[in-house]
Amino acid sequence: MTLVFKNSLTRLKEEFKPIEPGKVRMYTCGPTVYKQAHVGNFRAYMFEDLLRRYLKYKGYEVTQVMNLTDVDDKTIRDSQKQKIPLKQFTAPMIKEFFEDLDTLGIERAEEYPAATDHIPEMVALVKKLIDKGYAYEVDGNYYFKISAFSDYGKLGNIDMASLKPGARVAADEYEKDSVSDFALWKAWDEADGDVFWETDIGKGRPGWHIECSAMSMKYLGNHFDIHTGGEDNKFPHHENEIAQSEAATGEKFVNYWLHCGYLIAEGRKMSKSLGNEYRLRELLEQGYSGVAVRYMLISTHYRQQLDFTMDGLEAARNALERYNDFISNLAEFPGGDSDATAGGIIEKALTGFEESLDDDLNISGAMAAVFDFIRDINRLKADGKLSATERDKALETIRKFDTVLNFAHEAEDIDAEIEALIAERTEAKKNKDFARADKIRDDLTARGIILEDTPQGVRWKRKI
Ligand code: AMP
Ligand code: ZN
Repeated sequence: MTLVFKNSLTRLKEEFKPIEPGKVRMYTCGPTVYKQAHVGNFRAYMFEDLLRRYLKYKGYEVTQVMNLTDVDDKTIRDSQKQKIPLKQFTAPMIKEFFEDLDTLGIERAEEYPAATDHIPEMVALVKKLIDKGYAYEVDGNYYFKISAFSDYGKLGNIDMASLKPGARVAADEYEKDSVSDFALWKAWDEADGDVFWETDIGKGRPGWHIECSAMSMKYLGNHFDIHTGGEDNKFPHHENEIAQSEAATGEKFVNYWLHCGYLIAEGRKMSKSLGNEYRLRELLEQGYSGVAVRYMLISTHYRQQLDFTMDGLEAARNALERYNDFISNLAEFPGGDSDATAGGIIEKALTGFEESLDDDLNISGAMAAVFDFIRDINRLKADGKLSATERDKALETIRKFDTVLNFAHEAEDIDAEIEALIAERTEAKKNKDFARADKIRDDLTARGIILEDTPQGVRWKRKI
């Protein structure tokens, strides 16, 4: 079956063809850590989790990079206001972000580069743009000259006729109607306080857009497969990323651009600046589980607007109960006769699930296939028409679905599972099966679990 994505760049559904067969390199714009992430932000990270997990389900090896925007207009503004050094100001937000990812069962990306750790890469990129005639300086600020880049405006669907020649914008965020040369590097001024770097292009700090170009290309190469983000990232952020990257390298930057629609609350986009945000922690305090929030965030098609309501969370809770009861009751079912229809039910469910997700991650179709499957297998079970072998095949099927959905309670019991894998690895090493031992370590690393061999035995911790 062919995997198809709606590409924001061409506005068409296109067959997914990775640059390197069997491998996918993708970049995800991560959180701006000036305030705790809200569930709207997690809608974007949840869509990316679905994408990542489904690519893995299809057998691709995925390398995902998600940046941490720990220096930009907002982080500087708020850390200065609170008189806290920038790194100290962003650290608790970053820590909470990772905890929230775990609560929501979002799989870890392979890399989480922080912008403040990549200033030399950003400066090098600005210098390259200067050398190639795409950047110019005004009073220590460097701007990207968009008139020099003929492809500008393709992603954001910008009418370049409205462009005012010579207009410049220094702010990281701006609207479509103020399309103009944007800042790559901002010279230090008093409001920046102690936030600056002394570099070849002067004392200052990067603009937001150059951060993602520098970090994505460092970890994924000049040309990679997929770039994702929320709809609000499309313009100017992603438009500017394309301009900076392609102007610097002369190569195509990204093949597929995928953007998710907004999560809205009380009729408006949930946003840190509007203040209509719900935090995951508040929902947990109200007695909702991380997996209920996960269900609610994942179950609307990523390109559609998602209306956040408490009723929606209740519905998620009920559906999850059904899903998990199905698994536990099925596991306990001793098996009965067979009327030979189970195989067809399983086949139909697998086809329905995969055909739907292959079609631009149509989650509604996929979930319908899963819940039809639950209903049909339950019926066979109630009639005593499911053999022990068929029961095991049905369990295997729902567990396969769950590698993408991650709704099963057993998935929450991660600690016991990790301990068991560590014990298996120790045993494998004892038996000189180093290939198996290394594989276990690599699989755990991919899940963000780091093993340390200590004299007291093997310890594990989560990667931050
Ligand atoms: P920020 O921390 O504001 O840079 O946003 C991090 C990610 O969340 C970006 O991909 C945004 O596009 C996305 N995002 C922000 N608000 C929402 C929302 N209400 N619904 C969906 N995605 C959002
Ligand atoms: Zn970005």
